[in-house]
Amino acid sequence: MAHWCLRSEHHLPQETIDSLAVGGRLCLGLVNTAHPRSGRYAHDFLSGYADLVTWNRSLGMLTEEQEQYLLQESCTHSQEAGKTFEFALALREAIYSVFSAVAGGRVPQSEELSLIQSIFAEAMASASLSPIEHEFSWEWGAEDEPGKELRLLLWPVALSAIELFTSSKEWKKVKECSGCGLLFLDKSKTGNRRWCSMDECGSRAKMRRQYARKLSTL
Ligand SMILES: [Zn+2]
Repeated sequence: MAHWCLRSEHHLPQETIDSLAVGGRLCLGLVNTAHPRSGRYAHDFLSGYADLVTWNRSLGMLTEEQEQYLLQESCTHSQEAGKTFEFALALREAIYSVFSAVAGGRVPQSEELSLIQSIFAEAMASASLSPIEHEFSWEWGAEDEPGKELRLLLWPVALSAIELFTSSKEWKKVKECSGCGLLFLDKSKTGNRRWCSMDECGSRAKMRRQYARKLSTL
């Protein structure tokens, strides 16, 4: 493939962004690829660069052709793909740590902010602003540098995180589910949503409360 490009999250359908697994922003979606984060059912959906490609494809960030191209490139340049995957995990954990701190009323660590900022700076150095229909979108064009091409997948996520940090209306809405640790944007009118979903963690918590009440009356 001679040339292909990747766009920021803004072109994705709203229902994809709002889905439970994504939680309202692409950066939160990457964090939620490790879910639940603790306990006996702790699970990480990403075990290598190919999973990162598949995750992007599942959201619609990549076309099928781009997915196949990146999978092929990651096999040809396996060392670069491995390194990029490690960066992706470091980025994911830094985003998690910052938003978990914000949601818990703690001050985020400066090293984690620096890591996100450095990947964002790298992204913006290669980004171009392109008119799409009636608005603009950031785009990253692939160059004939295998390592750099593989790293493109990190850039929309870093942009998403920085946009959320600097959005005065939204960053305070980031919540961490009290049950499973999933991050989400609380768009409820009251702003006091505690659970990723009432059908999942919400109802489990309710059952635990009912059980505890029952025990206390015995
Ligand atoms: Zn949950």
